[in-house]
Amino acid sequence: MIHELDRQTRAQIAAGEVVTRPASVVVELVENALDAGAETVEIEISGDGTDRIRVSDDGVGMSERDAALAVERHTTSKLDDAADLETVETLGFRGEALPSIAAVSRLELTTNASGPRGTQVVVERGEKSVTAAGRARGTTVEVTDLFAERPARKKALASAKAEFARISRVVTRYALVRPDVRFVLRHDGRETLTTPGTDRFTDALLAVYGREVASHASTFDASRELRIGTESDEMAIDGVLCHPLVSRARRDHVHVSVNGRALAESRIRRAVSDAYGTLLPDGREPVAVVRLSLPPSWVDHNVHPAKSDVEFRDTEVVADAVEASVNDALSTADLRRSGELAM
Ligand code: ADP
Ligand code: MG
Repeated sequence: MIHELDRQTRAQIAAGEVVTRPASVVVELVENALDAGAETVEIEISGDGTDRIRVSDDGVGMSERDAALAVERHTTSKLDDAADLETVETLGFRGEALPSIAAVSRLELTTNASGPRGTQVVVERGEKSVTAAGRARGTTVEVTDLFAERPARKKALASAKAEFARISRVVTRYALVRPDVRFVLRHDGRETLTTPGTDRFTDALLAVYGREVASHASTFDASRELRIGTESDEMAIDGVLCHPLVSRARRDHVHVSVNGRALAESRIRRAVSDAYGTLLPDGREPVAVVRLSLPPSWVDHNVHPAKSDVEFRDTEVVADAVEASVNDALSTADLRRSGELAM
């Protein structure tokens, strides 16, 4: 007999698409912090992340009303109607992340929008409680007992080391494409990454990869025409490119963002790699950070529940433009000449 599913069950099913592992929780919370205009984002992880994930920011915070609404499904401050989907500039817009996380964990949100007092919202087993709490401006979300009631999901996770490595990659990606934001990542109390938030690509690169890599890096900043038929638009592209001397065995070290979103996978990575071409020995991949800004009409962020990739109006046009820009930047930086580079 057909019957309607209860609210809690519906929420848990929806959560399955967004919250697949601890790293996906971290993506959502970090993106929320960035959407809130944070200058500092601190991420603390215990064990494999199912024990505890805590993300604190110094962004705009939430009023008591908004804090209570934020954990409900399909509530967002970032989108009014479907038309806005075409122009959305924030990383979030579905209003699904917090309720989805809360459906498979205990979630505690403490926030203050620079009022005299803050608010704490706790969601546990579908029950929500709202109380007053002290806090400076900003938001802290603490997620504990993730997947405690989903043993199958929990069993599917890898070792604590491997899950933390995934989390670290998420934070690293954002730290590199948002050098204007200070990121701090701690694992079991130990600081594993701190970027200074100076807004210089080379400083973030130094924090992530160390002196050897950073001393072989060169920043670039360009713009390129995107043309389809008689229409043309402008794409801005900037970032930092490392000398082929510091190549890697895998393409994971080509970091790409599109309109502020750090992408876990992207055709653009290959375009960057192709631009290096024969500068790299066979089978080697570059270390690079490439940040694209395109008109919103060129990008669809709404193609994947976890938003790990975007769709372009014409992927090959964008990829060609990226390859050409990186190629130009490489010859300007004269990376063909081995040896020292000006930073
Ligand atoms: P979305 O990001 O798609 O809007 P979320 O479930 O991630 O959906 O968040 C719901 C709402 O809660 C957001 O639209 C925002 O208004 C608020 N919010 C969430 N996290 C933060 C934060 N760190 N700082 C300020 N507001 C936040
Ligand atoms: Mg969000």
